[in-house]
Amino acid sequence: MLALRLYGKEDLRLEDVDVPKLEGDGAILRVRATGICATDIKAYTTGARTKVPITLGHEFAGEIVEASEKYQEYVGKRVVVNPNIFCGKCEYCLKGEHVLCPNRYAIGIDIDGSFAEYVIIPGQAFEVGGVLEIPGHLSYEEASLVEPLAACFRGQRKLMIGPGDIVAIIGAGPIGLMHLKLAKAFGAAKIIMSEIDERRLEAAVKLGADYVINSAKEDLEKRVMEITGGRGADAVIVAVGVGAAQKDALRIVSRGGRINFFAGLPAGKEEVPINTNIIHYKQITVLGTSMQTPYEFRKTLELVAAGVIDVKSLITHIFGLKEGLEAFSTVLRGEGLRVLIKP
Ligand SMILES: [Zn+2]
Ligand SMILES: [Zn+2]
Repeated sequence: MLALRLYGKEDLRLEDVDVPKLEGDGAILRVRATGICATDIKAYTTGARTKVPITLGHEFAGEIVEASEKYQEYVGKRVVVNPNIFCGKCEYCLKGEHVLCPNRYAIGIDIDGSFAEYVIIPGQAFEVGGVLEIPGHLSYEEASLVEPLAACFRGQRKLMIGPGDIVAIIGAGPIGLMHLKLAKAFGAAKIIMSEIDERRLEAAVKLGADYVINSAKEDLEKRVMEITGGRGADAVIVAVGVGAAQKDALRIVSRGGRINFFAGLPAGKEEVPINTNIIHYKQITVLGTSMQTPYEFRKTLELVAAGVIDVKSLITHIFGLKEGLEAFSTVLRGEGLRVLIKP
């Protein structure tokens, strides 16, 4: 079968490899749609993975074609899988905060992923409720977007986005736009999006942002204060891995507001000098989230299935696996929103 495998920094190869064989408990999934995410791009640009070569890809949906005895009932089912495999037994898992599980590992990050025709789903994924059937009317393409959307869902729950909030989102890439859609569903009164790429600002307008700010051309703080009557945003989501954006968040948040540093910063750029007095005197909450628990994954699938969140409008490119390298370069060039591969 074909697979897109990472060998190291900027060394991604389309290869013919053996179809994986099931050893032990678990299942084999025929991948039908899989998205390229910033995490895959980061892996490509840094080559940093716990093992190489590795087949990348962790946002996917497909059908179970083979399973060990325990999971026979899944054979033939269309499913979407939480790529994060949790132990289910540690203190964090017991608390329902699986994302903190020290025993966690992930498909497409620590073990071979979905940029292939087939991928192994370890038994433990089933054990912690990470394998969910896709409702009949949802396409594989839509289902493959549940994973990143679920990470955003977690981010907004932790940020307690609620009815009437003024939400500012820094970064209007695919993740920023998912946050836009979710914040609307959570009842935000006004959504302000800031971005430096005009194409992405246009997408934000199309998808319903109330205000868009090109922060390369306009003074972000000044504009947010104008929009909010001098108060600032109740909640700020930093959906771009840039330290300056984290600093901006502190300036545009309201007193008593909340900030989520949703995007991680690139290696070597994690140290950001910030004015901690802003946190102290404005009495704000700064938090960070990443990944999603099995519960959040399930709830997000339900939101998409119910039509509350439309993810179709985020899919701009679909490639075959043969054009996998081209799909990657499309994302690297910053073109489009969600780029999918259909192996
Ligand atoms: Zn991802
Ligand atoms: Zn655990």
